Amino acid sequence: MTLLQISEPGRSPEPHARRRAAGIDLGTTHSLVATVVDGRPETIPDADGRVLLPSVVRYLADGAPAVVGDAARAAQAEDPLNTLASVKRLIGRSIDELPEFANRSHYEFAAGDSIMPKFATVAGPISPVQASAEILRALALRAAGTLGGAPEGVVITVPAYFDDSQRQATIDAARIAGLNVLRLLNEPTAAAVAYGLDRGTEGVHAVYDLGGGTFDISILRFTKGVFEVLSTAGDSALGGDDVDARLAAWIRAQAGLGDNLDHGAHRQLLVLARAIKEGLSDHAEMEITLSRPSGENWLGRITRAQFEELIADLIERTLAPCRQAVKDAGIALDELTEVILVGGSTRIPLVREAVAKFFGREAHVEIDPDRVVALGAAIQADILIGNKPDSDMLLLDVIPLSLGIETMGGLTEKIIPRNTTIPAVRAQDFTTYKDGQTALSLHVLQGERELVRDNRSLARFELRGIPPMVAGAARIRVTFQVDADGLLSVSAREQTQGVESRIEVKPSYGLSDEEVESMLTAAMDHAHEDMDQRRLRELKLEANQTMEALTAALAKDGERLLDAGERTDIAGALARLHGLNQGADETAIRGAIDELDRVSTVFAQRRMDDAIRNALSGHGVAEFSGDQDA
Ligand code: ADP
Ligand code: MG
Repeated sequence: MTLLQISEPGRSPEPHARRRAAGIDLGTTHSLVATVVDGRPETIPDADGRVLLPSVVRYLADGAPAVVGDAARAAQAEDPLNTLASVKRLIGRSIDELPEFANRSHYEFAAGDSIMPKFATVAGPISPVQASAEILRALALRAAGTLGGAPEGVVITVPAYFDDSQRQATIDAARIAGLNVLRLLNEPTAAAVAYGLDRGTEGVHAVYDLGGGTFDISILRFTKGVFEVLSTAGDSALGGDDVDARLAAWIRAQAGLGDNLDHGAHRQLLVLARAIKEGLSDHAEMEITLSRPSGENWLGRITRAQFEELIADLIERTLAPCRQAVKDAGIALDELTEVILVGGSTRIPLVREAVAKFFGREAHVEIDPDRVVALGAAIQADILIGNKPDSDMLLLDVIPLSLGIETMGGLTEKIIPRNTTIPAVRAQDFTTYKDGQTALSLHVLQGERELVRDNRSLARFELRGIPPMVAGAARIRVTFQVDADGLLSVSAREQTQGVESRIEVKPSYGLSDEEVESMLTAAMDHAHEDMDQRRLRELKLEANQTMEALTAALAKDGERLLDAGERTDIAGALARLHGLNQGADETAIRGAIDELDRVSTVFAQRRMDDAIRNALSGHGVAEFSGDQDA
């Protein structure tokens, strides 16, 4: 197994020549930036002393710059359609995957058939990548003040559950914001670094991270100076937002508000619910004041016990992944040394109780759970940029979801199983299934399910130029490689002649904002082209199969079962299809296939009758055709 060395040996910057590096926690709810000052990581506040930047972006009309953070969050109720929150839930996702999110978010999606969702705002259609770029830009600007210049490199954290396209999209957002990404880092790993678990005693630790929109549990091991993530599990759609929604529904019912609130009123209710929830972490009871559309206020109250009853099942839902992660790590619960809590929602007393009960010990909360991830990212960034040449820290991350390819029958063959440490390279050999097959199409998938249709499709590509051989003779080696950021490239190589084809979904370093933007647009345009291409290829394949089958049948039974006129008709239709199949006119090819079907129907019927007659007279079909060949 390859260890990832993240310090660059031999580099020793002068103390005064420190390079400017920052760690960024790009959160669903809040984002933060931190940097190492005098050897200690510190989160960087804004001019008003606030460290948490709400991950909310408000777009304005007439080319005015977008507003990010508290001011945007405050405008959520009044201007919901132009104010984007929780875009991290959508980043790197395609429209197809949206239903689960569409119910939860209260935005109107821009019309159009692009594969990337866009919000219809007064500033035009905005993608989650663009909105994330605004947040990153705001944080970088904040960091520049403290660092004395724009950061030269940043480490950005992502949930352990982020898949390839979500990681890609995060890197794209950083590029659009003009940032140089040193590395993406899993959030739980960053938290563990902040806690200095790598400098403590050897042991196995659990990191429980319940934020606004995601839940992650990671089991980490520290031995012989190496820090390794043994397993991760979680729920990418569970967090404080869900708690807010529960409480909001309760308040709505208590206040008799009815079900059809408009966007603004709904937002306002969620903001109120969050405030009450956060208050209940410190107080046994909270008063609720809700201003109703009619103008008068509704006054209510809720106790912590009532609140806990409302959300008990949500908290309970975090325990199954905990059990899974411990199991995947191959350890017993009592082998755990430390448990640390990450994410704002771990301030809820019921969460702390549930975690303590499950793991059988009190969890660490010494470092502010909101900041711990950014602090760890800052430590990482400082090392990666070369400010700590003597550091020998090694970090290992794991692949959150299995990676594999499609095989015959719509099944998924896993090449790299989930929880494999990265970087990782795995290869597997495949072969052809038809005589003389010269091309192989590969479909790259991500997920744990058996059937292709249940997993996520990452990419498709083709290996061409395989020398014709009998079925099963060719050796095609498919290699999956995952780099330190968790990004995947796949190659296929035919072993005898060495023809190779590969697909790389790599970040685009060194590009300008405009280039990144246009690449994103191009990727979207090409998606359609690619789909058309595939449809055409499949149609051509169908044409080829039809022609092959008919030609073989004609060679065998044509003379015997057809008269000269019939043979000419079929030959003519065959020639027409053959000609058209060299081109790209789908409608014409489809028409020629249908025409060939039509003129050869009589031939097919006679062959069928023939076979039945022979079977009835005591001869098997196979036996009969054998006689004919002789
Ligand atoms: P993310 O990483 O998803 O952005 P954070 O770690 O910033 O999330 O956590 C944000 C969540 O934590 C929000 O749902 C917020 O309401 C919740 N939160 C923050 N403070 C408290 C508190 N005192 N009690 C309960 N929940 C809190
Ligand atoms: Mg977080």
